[in-house]
Order: sequence, then C-alpha cells, then structure tokens
Amino acid sequence: MHARHQAVLPDWLALYYQRPIEITHGEGRHVWDAEGKRYLDFFGGILTTMTAHALPEVSRAVAEQASRIIHSSTLYLNRPMVELAERIARLSGIPDARVFFTTSGTEANDTALLLASTHRRSNQVLAMRNSYHGRSFSAVGVTGNRGWSPTSLSPLHTLYVHGAVRGRGPFAALSDAEFTAACVADLEDVLGQVHGGVAALIAEPIQGVGGFTSPPDGLYARFREVLDRHGILWISDEVQTGWGRTGEHFWGWQAHAAAGPPDILTFAKGIGNGMSIGGVVARAEIMNCLDANSISTFGGSPVTMAAGLANLTHLLENDLQGNARRVGGLLIERLRAATAGLDAVREVRGRGLMIGVELVRPGGERAAPELASAVLEAAREDGLLIGKGGGHDTSVLRIAPPLSLTVAEAEEGAAILEAALTKAVAGAR
Ligand code: PLP
Repeated sequence: MHARHQAVLPDWLALYYQRPIEITHGEGRHVWDAEGKRYLDFFGGILTTMTAHALPEVSRAVAEQASRIIHSSTLYLNRPMVELAERIARLSGIPDARVFFTTSGTEANDTALLLASTHRRSNQVLAMRNSYHGRSFSAVGVTGNRGWSPTSLSPLHTLYVHGAVRGRGPFAALSDAEFTAACVADLEDVLGQVHGGVAALIAEPIQGVGGFTSPPDGLYARFREVLDRHGILWISDEVQTGWGRTGEHFWGWQAHAAAGPPDILTFAKGIGNGMSIGGVVARAEIMNCLDANSISTFGGSPVTMAAGLANLTHLLENDLQGNARRVGGLLIERLRAATAGLDAVREVRGRGLMIGVELVRPGGERAAPELASAVLEAAREDGLLIGKGGGHDTSVLRIAPPLSLTVAEAEEGAAILEAALTKAVAGAR
C-alpha cells in the first residue's frame, strides 16, 4: 500500500511490514499482493481464514444468498441464522444453549461481559494477566497488557490473576502441578481481598495475541472449583481457539474438560472464513437475563450466516481438526529440529495449527521484538506470511495457517522460516 493511501488512516492502526502489503486475492493457503507476488499464508488472516482462502463452497453460498437477499434485519428470522445457531449450540457442549450472533469477537466478549455482569449484579470481573479480548471499552477493560490496552479507564473493575503465562519470574521453575497450585492460591487470595461479588472470570484457553501461551491442562478445572464456591461465571473466549484449530480439541476449554463446559462461550474469527461473524453461547437462564429487547443490526445477517454454514460443513466433513492435529504435529517437530541450534529461539510451542516460536536476544533471556520484525520481513521476501505477538517480556512468531494446510506446504513454509530466522539472526549480530 502506498504512503498516500495510508495518510487517511489513524496513526494507531496496526500494520505489519515497513512497506505494507496490499492483498488482492487468495486461493487455498495462498494470497497474492497488488504487485502480483504470491505468498504462502501461515497466518490465515489472523486465524480467520479457517478452511481455505476463497473456498468455493463458501464463495458459492455467499453469492447465492446475496442474489436472494442480503439483509432483512434481525427483527425477522432467516433460515441460515437459525440453522447455524442450532449447530453451534449443539457443538458448544453447553446445556440448554442459546446463541446470539454479533459481528466481531470484541462485540461477542462485550455481550458476554454484559450478560455476566447483569446476571450476577456486579461489574467486578476476573481476567488473566497478558490477556487480549478486543477493543471495545469493556473488552479493553479486561485486557491484561498495556501494549494492547490503549487506556486505563474502564466501565469494569477488573482483578487480574495468574495462570496463563509462566513468564520468567518466580513461577518459571515450577512444575505444572506446582504452578497450578500457586495460581489457585493466587485466585483465592485475590478473591479474599474483594468487597462484594464478582460476576465472571474471562479467559482465553490459549492466549492468542499474548504469544500462543497455554496454561497447564486442567488449570481452569481447578479454577472452576473456586469460581463455583463464590458463584462466579466462567467465560471462555474461544475467538482464536475454537473450531478445532488446536487439533486435539474442538474448543480450547476441552483441555480443562473436568471443569465441564464454560457458563458462557464466545466465538468469532474462523467460523465465517473471513465474513464478519462473532457470537455468544450461554445457558438460557443466563442469556435471557437482560431486561429489555436488543438486537445487533448486522449480527446474524443472512449472507454471513450462509458463509458460516458452508464453512462449518466443509470443516466437519473433511475432518480439518484431524488435519490440524496431524500436519500441525509435523510442523512443530520440523520447526523444533530446524531451530535447535539457534540460541535466539527460546521455545517452539503450540497445539495443532496454533504454533508459537518464542525469540530472545541472542545468548540472552530478553525479548527480541526487532528480531521478530526482521524475521517477518525476511520471510515476506521469500513469499511467506507469519504473525507476531507476545507479552511484555516476550517476542513470539505466530503461525496459524488455514486448517487445510498440506504436508508439502508445511515443509515449504518451515524451510522459508528457517532461512528467514538464520538471515535475521545474522543481521542482528
Ligand atoms: N478475543 C481474542 C482471543 C482475540 O484474539 C481477538 C482478536 O484478535 C478478539 C477477542 C477480538 O476479536 P475482533 O478483532 O473480531 O473484534
């Protein structure tokens, strides 16, 4: 994109690359820029292109629906909305589930916080340190990292707890069991200090923007015992972890299965394969707690719903969750082997096709954001798109291709990434 085009955009708009890329079209796991250059897409539109770019079934469903009617207002029903709601309610694992559609993950989390606060008559909430939940006023208010939270003002009173990231402080040397016990004690301690009730805990099962960091499996099951004792709802933000991306599970909360399903589940990103669909699932008793009528003007719009139905059908019929498990497993192993000799790589971690490569300054333990940017630039040159993220002391390359990635594409991307890392590390010396 040329500088003259950027001049009308806000200064705080996050754009990758010194010379931003203007994408014109895509197919499968590839996209093309305005100069005709082809890229293997290892970031899947920030985990949004779930199945494949320009998946014919989705494109056809969008065109067919758009040719009949584009929007009828959510004051009326439309068939694709009802069918998608029925399927998501069944898949969610939540009993007596109701689904409300929004147009983004932010709006889904905002709605979840509104429901929980209203249901529990409290605006106090628990959130995880290093979390990201979106950019509305209340979503920013539960975002536990200054880097992604442009204001400290909030309509919520938020208490941040440990559990999502082990970091490099006092928790670093603990085993999973010791870390879990320490986090449960921290949660109890925080709750012991609060006046009045707390409405909910909101948490990403695996932190996305925070650098693809996972708590130990089962941590949220242990948290749940404490939450239940205090009458606090559990909101699982599945915006990045839903739809089988982690390979082993359809939802991220299932890594904490002993907890049972969350009280409220939020989703977005992958389900629309790029169309703007977000949503909230909750038991009827919670979903129905609002006093007055409300709609989302564009939530549940027929064209997006038709896309979601076609995309979900393709995902399930082609077992793309199984593909994420198999190809993601190979990719992690390949990246671990390729980076074993690089002291700038602290860890290759992940589940399924949600893989993080944590970078440090050569020989050190400190974050290396310049190195992450240099790797992105070098990979771009060689035709590979990846993401970056991380908490206040981490720099992480984020790899999250469409779930239909082939073994050959995984090999090709890993080779480009290996070369980009080697080049960037050499340049940093
Ligand atoms: N929740 C999580 C875990 C996210 O990663 C994001 C976006 O990256 C959001 C919520 C916000 O979603 P959206 O950008 O669709 O508003």
